[in-house]
Amino acid sequence: MFGLVTRSAADLDHPHFERVFFEVKDVTGRRSDPIAEGINMVSCHGDTQASADPDLVAINDEDEPATRDRRYFDWGYVCPTHEGYRTGLVELIEGCVEVNDNLRLDDVGFPRAEYCFCERCTRAFETSTFTDRFEWRASVITNFVEQAAERIPGRTYLTVYPDPYPGHLEERSGLNPPSVERYVDEIVVPIYDLHYATTYWLEILAKGFQELLSIPFGIELYAVDIDIESLVHAAEVADAYADHVYFAYDTSNALKAIEQLEGD
Ligand SMILES: [Zn+2]
Repeated sequence: MFGLVTRSAADLDHPHFERVFFEVKDVTGRRSDPIAEGINMVSCHGDTQASADPDLVAINDEDEPATRDRRYFDWGYVCPTHEGYRTGLVELIEGCVEVNDNLRLDDVGFPRAEYCFCERCTRAFETSTFTDRFEWRASVITNFVEQAAERIPGRTYLTVYPDPYPGHLEERSGLNPPSVERYVDEIVVPIYDLHYATTYWLEILAKGFQELLSIPFGIELYAVDIDIESLVHAAEVADAYADHVYFAYDTSNALKAIEQLEGD
């Protein structure tokens, strides 16, 4: 099955897409009103705008903030243990599911393995029952996913970073697949490239996720400004392993690719 990821409300009522994801809150922190015709998507801890607030931003043990201007970061990250921000996210999710039962949790987790060492996180870890900081982080994130999923009456989708190597997701973001899978209906893995001129790496990652996960998963491909043949080939590879394939941010290219894929 093929679907679309979009920021444009005009794409929502398209019969060619069995499933459309709509960005209600993106990684810049920009917000739109939730929509009824598609699955609302909420960037949880990725939020460049909020990361400008020193009280909210995640920091490493050298006091370096996870802001967009720093190496490794394309957007800013909020610390997942900030109660006020977490409450705001839960309220946003509650508002979205009033409009559409299903919801996709995007950008969930700590920014990278070296985060977060803010005073709040340090205190929370030290007063916890955990002796391993990575296990403590995984408990924080599992807890957040559980809390969010409890509010979602329909299907819960969760985006993960495209690294299926055993242990890597947990080390990076605190997302432990076996722990979060019980709260989630489908994992979505964005595997982006500007050309998809070769696809062996896409196949390796897709196969890795097929082995790692025990619930359905979808692969999201970047459809902007791309040769349609290459996009179609990438989608065929993804489709061989994933339960769903989604095309991101270009409806016209997505439609051309689906036409070819369904024609075959
Ligand atoms: Zn923190």
